[in-house]
Amino acid sequence: MFENLSNRLQQVVKTLRGHARLTEENITDAMREVRMALLEADVALPVVKDFVSQVKERAVGREVLQSLSPGQAVIQVVHEELTRLMGEQNVGLNLATNPPAIVLMAGLQGSGKTTTSAKLARLLKADKKKVLLASADVYRPAAIEQLKTLAKSLEVDCFDSNATQKPADIAAQALDFAKRHFYDVLIFDTAGRLGIDEAMMAEIKQLHEILSPIETLFVVDAMQGQDAVNTARAFGETLPLTGVVLTKLDGDARGGAALSVRHVTGKPIKYIGVSEKVDGIELFHPERMASRVLG
Ligand code: GDP
Repeated sequence: MFENLSNRLQQVVKTLRGHARLTEENITDAMREVRMALLEADVALPVVKDFVSQVKERAVGREVLQSLSPGQAVIQVVHEELTRLMGEQNVGLNLATNPPAIVLMAGLQGSGKTTTSAKLARLLKADKKKVLLASADVYRPAAIEQLKTLAKSLEVDCFDSNATQKPADIAAQALDFAKRHFYDVLIFDTAGRLGIDEAMMAEIKQLHEILSPIETLFVVDAMQGQDAVNTARAFGETLPLTGVVLTKLDGDARGGAALSVRHVTGKPIKYIGVSEKVDGIELFHPERMASRVLG
């Protein structure tokens, strides 16, 4: 994950550590390298600018330049600012509502919505929650079947929808079913398109109105870098998103999406997908991610 970015930043760290004393010029040079590394990792430009200026402002401060190991102090500042950029604390799903707590999954086709729905169901089941999965992806009957198959393998219930139904009807019926059978959580998977289109947005808005979810998660493929962030922003303008799930971080993601999402969209990354398997999901920890990036 993020090998290029990590390697580049580790080089900067090494150079900084090599100086017994640091001058403002050393820091300016280091920040130039950091800036390049972030841009190459496909981090959004405003994010890079803001990050570099924050680090620089703190790094040329007296506490850093006059500290006993200034290189180490700068690295500490970079680590703190990276963590802040990604959102600091993350408590995962918010289910604090009258059951069923509803989790609405949104995102483009192929982003990993169905897989992530199953992964979340597995986590919640392990947490002793009674979970119902449902799919309104009526345009791709295979998607509904995929969710049913995943649910079966996890021994989690799946609402019996099919491709002849209207998404709005599936939502109303699944909600009614979840209430009548005392489910703790309903995870509702929706149809995505290849790109953002009006019909999809109108549909998901309608589903959002019917379901009143406590969590509306935007699922996005991390490998799409800045495109991922721009799509998240567009969805966020239509839908009151509560969080983002970044999938496929096990691929050759450059890191741009993970570092930009929070800053650009104002929404926290709640989970990351790290494999195709149902257990390939992790709570997103900004602090740990910053450590991973800095190596
Ligand atoms: P949907 O169209 O949004 O429902 O996407 P799917 O859940 O069907 O996922 C699309 C493809 O991405 C499938 O082949 C999944 O196995 C794969 N996928 C989903 N999440 C991850 C992940 O975190 N890592 C990897 N490597 N593959 C994933």
